[in-house]
Order: sequence, then structure tokens, then C-alpha cells
Amino acid sequence: MELGAHSLAETFRRLITNTGPISLTHFMGESNARYYSGKDPLGDGGDFVTAPEISQMFGELIGLWMADMWIRAGKEEPVYYVELGPGRGTLAKDALRAARKYGLQPYIHLVETSQALKDVQLQAVPGAIWHNDLSTIPQDGPMLLVANEFLDALPIRQLVRGPDGWRERMIGLENDQFAFVMGGQNMDPAVPVEFRDAEEGAILETCPAAAAIMYEVAGRLVDQGGAALFIDYGHAKLKTGSTFQAVRNHTKVHPFAAPGEADLTALVDFETLARIAQSRDARHIGTVTQGDWLRALGIETRAQNLAAQAPQYAQDIAVAKDRLIAPDQMGDLFKVMALASHKWPGGVGFPED
Ligand code: SAH
Repeated sequence: MELGAHSLAETFRRLITNTGPISLTHFMGESNARYYSGKDPLGDGGDFVTAPEISQMFGELIGLWMADMWIRAGKEEPVYYVELGPGRGTLAKDALRAARKYGLQPYIHLVETSQALKDVQLQAVPGAIWHNDLSTIPQDGPMLLVANEFLDALPIRQLVRGPDGWRERMIGLENDQFAFVMGGQNMDPAVPVEFRDAEEGAILETCPAAAAIMYEVAGRLVDQGGAALFIDYGHAKLKTGSTFQAVRNHTKVHPFAAPGEADLTALVDFETLARIAQSRDARHIGTVTQGDWLRALGIETRAQNLAAQAPQYAQDIAVAKDRLIAPDQMGDLFKVMALASHKWPGGVGFPED
């Protein structure tokens, strides 16, 4: 595809005019690749704010969770800290600082495709090694993997129930504007049986890229040992409806408005991902809300201690803690899913299985 002076919207328009509607996977994948490649979208001056950017407590508690798992599993070395889509490297920096206090000093491997963000990560996490995907991460020791707000940025596919069965939801042009249209091929075989006869207009989302990553992470946990945390907004149970959305400059915009210039996301289907991990014989430790998990890990106490050390920031610390755990903020919508090798222990903050 041609880059350069043309906006991505223009490129898509020409492509659709010449060859017909494109898939949502294509639209979202190209848009986010363009979006993340050129800039740092995080923080107050960017488009959106993530949990590690709200408070150091988030990364610290993840580091403590990892250290606890590693210690109880027998302190095996070498051990690898692996992060997918590390953003500004803030989570890694906070987690590794907390883990070090408990003797956990892993090799650091970051999976990141954006050159702009790699440059920022280099400052935050000196000594890290970068990868374009998981395939080149070492395999000779357990990995402690974390991915925060990574899966939601991976391209989804949507299926829509038409008058005579399920079709792929494609993007075409109507009056030179992007518009959803139905693909020509019947997609019934790709739809779970319980949804086959859904009402006309029903939408199902899948994320093949997330499924592939889950398959690989689970296989590695079984082969190498280790544990993984996936944190994202998502639903615990698969349901119908579109969750495709766009954020630009801290405001929701239409996902067709400015491809490549807004962050395109979809809710993560944790139920399906847990099933994929289990199908590879990894252990699904559990999926809980971010609020419950951070509370179980002691965020209230940590916030009190931080406030005692820096009373002038007590109010800011309390506000940040509430953003992370309050049910009407990130506490309920965001979920934490933990996976591990069956040889590893269960993790703090998840019900015993
Ligand atoms: N985890 C960080 C950043 C979240 S934004 C935080 O919580 O602040 C999404 C991150 O995933 C960015 O670092 C982005 O560059 C990266 N990313 C998006 N798509 C990717 C892909 N296909 N492969 C690797 N990294 C990707």
C-alpha cells in the first residue's frame, strides 16, 4: 500500500473504489499501525491515558504479583520479564523496581512495533531488548508476561446477521463516505451454534490476532514455565453487539472519522481467550475485575503509605486510586486475566480453583 502525502482515508477510498469493500480487520489493522508508528499517544497531551500513567501503584502491584509467583515457583533463573505493547515503559519501570526489592531481576524483553514508542521505552527501561513479535523471545527459562491495553488495539473481525444468514461486515463507500456493507459470502460456519439464529442485524466480533497471541503465550507458559497477566477493558462472557470505537484527544469520535489519526479499539473477549489458553493446557488462574484485583493486592494500603510519605500529594493519590478501582471508573469495566503453567502456583487476587 502506498504511503506518503495521502491520508490513510484517501488510500482506503481509492482501494475500495478500485477493488470493492475491505474487511474491518484490514481497516483497523492498517489504521492502528499508522496511528502508533508515528507518535506517542499516551498521557494528558495525547489521546488517552492508561492505568500505569495514572499511578505508579499499578505497575508496582503487578511487579509484586510477579515476584510472589516467581518466589513460590522456586526462583528459577534465567527468568524473563516480557511485556506486549509497553507504551511509554512506565509499567515496566514501576513493576521492575518493585520486583527488585524481592530479589527478582529478570531479563527484560519488550514487544513493540512503534518506533516512536520504542524511543520513549529506551529512556524508561535501559537494558531492555526489543522484538516485533513473540517468536524471538528466549525459551530457556520461565517468562513473566504482562500486556496492559494491548489486546484492545488488535484488529477485529465483525460478522453481521443478514436476512439469509451471517455475513462478514465490510467497509465500502456510500456517497464517497465510508459505510458498513455486507460481504457476499455466507459465514454461518464461523458462528457459534447458539448465535446462528440471532435476529437480523446482530453483530459478533472476533479477534484473530488476539487468539493467535493467546495460543502462543499459553504454549510458551506450558513449555518454559511462568505466568501471564492480560489487563484490558472487556466482557467476561461473549455477547453480540459492536464495540468498535475510536478515541482522539480524550474524546470518542466515529471510527471512520480519521483512520490513522485516532486510536481504534474493541472490547476484549476474555472468555474465548481463556478457552484458547486452556486448549493448550495452560492454567487459567482466573479473570476478575481490575478493582477487585488491585484491592486484593493491597492498593488501599499502598495509597496510604504513599500519602504518608508525601502528604502534599495525598489528594492526588486518592484520586488516582479511585480512577483505577472505582466501579464507575476503571474498576469494573477493566478485567485482569491470569494464566500460568500448571506447575506454577495460583496467583494473589484470584479465587482458588
Ligand atoms: N501498555 C501501555 C500502552 C498501551 S497502548 C500502557 O498501558 O500505557 C498500546 C500499545 O500496544 C502501544 O505500545 C502500541 O504501540 C502497541 N501495539 C499496538 N499494536 C501492536 C502490534 N500489532 N504489535 C505490537 N505492539 C502493538
